Amino acid sequence: MKNIVLFGPPGAGKGTQADRIKNKYNLFHISTGDVFRFNIKNNTKLGVLAKQYMEKGDLVPDEVTIQMLNKVVENNLDVNGFIFDGFPRTKSQANALDHLLLKYDSSISAMIALEVADEVLIERLTERGKQSGRADDSNKSIIENRIKEYYSKTAILKTFYQKKNCYFGIDGVGKIDEITERIIKVINEL
Ligand code: AMP
Repeated sequence: MKNIVLFGPPGAGKGTQADRIKNKYNLFHISTGDVFRFNIKNNTKLGVLAKQYMEKGDLVPDEVTIQMLNKVVENNLDVNGFIFDGFPRTKSQANALDHLLLKYDSSISAMIALEVADEVLIERLTERGKQSGRADDSNKSIIENRIKEYYSKTAILKTFYQKKNCYFGIDGVGKIDEITERIIKVINEL
């Protein structure tokens, strides 16, 4: 299996790029944010719980997120691999992911990080909020809190994957096609 983590702060373009890459390599795309939003829309128990955190721009607790991710992976094992978009976001999530994949004799092939400056992130998220109406994209202090959560809990994962020799940073600014090409280049050389 080829398992890719698309990494980067909120607004880096993970969802946009994952959508393009999944078709090219026939990978199963898991966006934890999308799974949470689906649950909120359908008013499930998980959705009600996740909403309290998401509306403030805080991370949903690890235990809940890991359990949900495990379930999605285990229900879709018949694939060439996965693109993880928005997961892992903490060290315990990264450890849980390793543990889960190991059960299937698999591992993370690459973490591909989209590097984008904070000012650009804020601009992109504010613009996306106008179009999508996503509540957590439509308020400056929530956006700033999400970026703060990224730096305090998530950014450390760069070292985690560097130690495994599978971290690849790419420039996440430019035309969408150009960024896709940069990602493809990394994947083709794996
Ligand atoms: P995203 O769509 O990836 O920007 O995620 C939107 C929100 O969902 C985040 O701000 C978090 O509240 C929550 N979320 C998504 N993925 C995770 C995760 N792996 N761990 C904790 N919370 C998450």
